[in-house]
Amino acid sequence: MNPENEFREGLTDLATHYKSILTLLGEDPQREGLEKTPMRVAKAMQVLTRGYTQDPQQVLTDALFQEDYNQMVIVKDIDVFSLCEHHLLPFYGKCHVAYIPNGYITGLSKIARVVDIFSHRLQVQERLTQQIKECIQATLRPQGVMVVIEAKHMCMQMRGVEKQNSITTTSDFSGVFNDLNTRQEFMSLLRGESKRI
Ligand SMILES: [Zn+2]
Repeated sequence: MNPENEFREGLTDLATHYKSILTLLGEDPQREGLEKTPMRVAKAMQVLTRGYTQDPQQVLTDALFQEDYNQMVIVKDIDVFSLCEHHLLPFYGKCHVAYIPNGYITGLSKIARVVDIFSHRLQVQERLTQQIKECIQATLRPQGVMVVIEAKHMCMQMRGVEKQNSITTTSDFSGVFNDLNTRQEFMSLLRGESKRI
């Protein structure tokens, strides 16, 4: 957890509102177990939305390396924890990214950082997928990039909507991944070794 002074402006207001929310939910915010809950929730929510204060493009441009390698680079099984913007409930799963460089590569951990930053904002899985793709496309300018996210949505599971264990898969791609063969190469590499979430 971040130290106290790293929390953003509005933390106290946020806690005050969560106290009201507890009352509106039929609880007694004064009882012992809930006394510190509003501030805890406020801090947790600021952490879960810290991506608003971070610049994913900067992360990539700070770590560009000139390289002749022009085969597929795949970063698989990146953990994703995000909040759906419709219910403010978590969705979580794995993100897989592939790109084919065009003179520049980036640190592999930087791709995971980009996923982390966009997922720590209120999201829908479709837009999250697209934003990761566009960020990599705009900064690395590769021959193509493809992003696949497989996630479980607590707003579906906890509310009993649709199949409880269903996994939502989204994908987006650009450039050379418009070629079906290139997409299939990526997907078969994923299927072969990827663990299910
Ligand atoms: Zn939702």
